[in-house]
Amino acid sequence: MWEVRSHSGSALELISENLARVRQRIAEAASKSGRNPDSVEIVAVTKGFGISVVEAAHALGLRYFGENRVQEALAKYLPRPPGIVLHMVGHLQRNKAKLAAGIFDVVESLDSVALAAELNRRLGQLGREADVLLEVNIAGEASKYGFEPEQVYSAIKEMENLECLHLRGLMTVAPMAADPEDVRWVFRRLASLRDELQERTGTALPVLSMGMSDDFQVAVEEGATWIRLGRALFGPRQPG
Ligand SMILES: *Cc1c(COP(=O)(O)O)cnc(C)c1O
Repeated sequence: MWEVRSHSGSALELISENLARVRQRIAEAASKSGRNPDSVEIVAVTKGFGISVVEAAHALGLRYFGENRVQEALAKYLPRPPGIVLHMVGHLQRNKAKLAAGIFDVVESLDSVALAAELNRRLGQLGREADVLLEVNIAGEASKYGFEPEQVYSAIKEMENLECLHLRGLMTVAPMAADPEDVRWVFRRLASLRDELQERTGTALPVLSMGMSDDFQVAVEEGATWIRLGRALFGPRQPG
């Protein structure tokens, strides 16, 4: 395990080419908005991909990895080499908080104060801590999880004494769109909400996790510091 095996050589080559292309596109988007491309971190979302893909991505120097289901993360990342920072990016049910507390370093998708409290309790029991983001449902989609923008300030206040959680910023999942320009306003709104909250709380919120394979350039132009990429790095997921 964790050796790049010879049969994954072609996967390695493909991912290497994709990664170079992604980095080029990050650089273009960053320069458009006068940002340093090094301020953008790639979170490699490996849901639906096997361990050989994780190994290849790790061998290519990626360090932030994301999964959206606890069980899949446990199957793929336990054990894992030092240096990998594992992110939960999907909805976390409260009854999975105990398992999640044992494996994730970052939870990007905190979507209720009750979940935050339970995660904090479970982390405490394990002597662990986690960086967290609050997920915001900017577009108000009924199908999506996340706080409404108006709820975030009071959520931050209520979470203040949860000492195993370190709040780093905000995350959003933009609606599906044929043209990424159609969701630019979503990213812009998350960035301005972050600015507003920083001022109101006096707390630094440096992280904006926004942008996926189809819209990450627009997200970077609007200030994304973490972009969550699956298909842009690894190609299409196999159905099932
Ligand atoms: C799957 C997933 C991603 C990555 O999606 P791609 O379209 O493959 O880049 C990013 N964020 C979340 C929350 C996801 O569930």
